[in-house]
Amino acid sequence: MTATPCATAVLKLLRNSVKALPLYDPGADPEQVARRSTHPLLKLSNNENPLGVAPAALAALEQLRARSYSRYPDPACQHLRRALGEHLDSDPERLIIGNGSENLLELLCLAFLDPADRVVTQSPCFGLHEIFPLMMAAQVVKVASNPDFSCNLDAWQTALATPTKMLLISNPSNPLGTIFDHQAFTRLIDSAPDDTLLVIDEAYYEFASADADFPDALRTLRNQSRPWIVLRTFSKAYGLAGLRVGYGIASDASLVQALDRVRTPYNINQAAQHAALAALGDPQHVQRSQAFAAQAREPLQRALIAAGLRVAPSRTNFLFIDTGVDALEVNRRLLDEAIIIKAWREPGYQSCIRMSLGQPADNLRFLEGLQRAVAALRCTSP
Ligand SMILES: *Cc1c(COP(=O)(O)O)cnc(C)c1O
Repeated sequence: MTATPCATAVLKLLRNSVKALPLYDPGADPEQVARRSTHPLLKLSNNENPLGVAPAALAALEQLRARSYSRYPDPACQHLRRALGEHLDSDPERLIIGNGSENLLELLCLAFLDPADRVVTQSPCFGLHEIFPLMMAAQVVKVASNPDFSCNLDAWQTALATPTKMLLISNPSNPLGTIFDHQAFTRLIDSAPDDTLLVIDEAYYEFASADADFPDALRTLRNQSRPWIVLRTFSKAYGLAGLRVGYGIASDASLVQALDRVRTPYNINQAAQHAALAALGDPQHVQRSQAFAAQAREPLQRALIAAGLRVAPSRTNFLFIDTGVDALEVNRRLLDEAIIIKAWREPGYQSCIRMSLGQPADNLRFLEGLQRAVAALRCTSP
């Protein structure tokens, strides 16, 4: 393919760190998959909530007077921050709302990372935990998990023995679904240099928070005299992925003010603020979603292990599975049956896939499709 003059010029103008930036993989396009297959579409690629939107949020959206859409939304999200403050027993000044928690990850990198700054994160990792730091030309160091998917605390300790600008982890982990338990989390925090900014991405908090060994990060971090932020989202347990609302609970107001400098002022649209506020008042939906995931998870996990596959012990609404064969090939075969999952592309994990738990019948359909794909690929592989 020959580059057009315009494409050549674009490449020349681009910042160096953007030229080499890997693209985020959102998974296959559902419309395209549905068009190409006679099977009903089954999207298990983005850890969405199979129970849907929190009913209270739906009702609130239906009542929202669309007339007010001609006005800009509240740039400070005051109502939502006040309600979240009460919900979390936190000063609203310490809270920041993002257009998804992805937006907050981006703001953290924009505000804090200079070129060559060191960021330590985990492997396998959530794509944006690597992409956003690389966008700022930071240096990303990834600490690999053990072969059994547990965390390698010695490796973390070694990685954190070098000056580090930002420690960025997801707990529970995306893509593994596993957790740093209370003891591991405390040791990790204690290992980090005193001037490291701690970013704890708890996108799946609601699925694990009732487990006795899941760390209460806010409580552990409260005693730290350094900056930190815990990120959560309305996308997963609340079922509002399409509206884009995440939030951060920061060590203090100065961190929020720092992020406000790089935040686009109207980053949360009016409908999203309104729906998130209502969803917060609907804890039953979160409980139902958590229970639903736990119930769907156990039998599927067992069946996969019985089929000879390795599965990370998940605390979330998704599973990370080592298929033992090329994950891209597995993905291709599942797409033929209109089943969308994510094939992992990180080095060391390219036989792994991540699937989001759905309705029981859907999980069964996935299991059967996966077994067919793996059996076929085992036969053809040398
Ligand atoms: C889903 C996810 C997010 C993004 O959530 P949004 O609030 O929808 O932007 C952030 N971090 C992790 C680890 C996730 O899995």
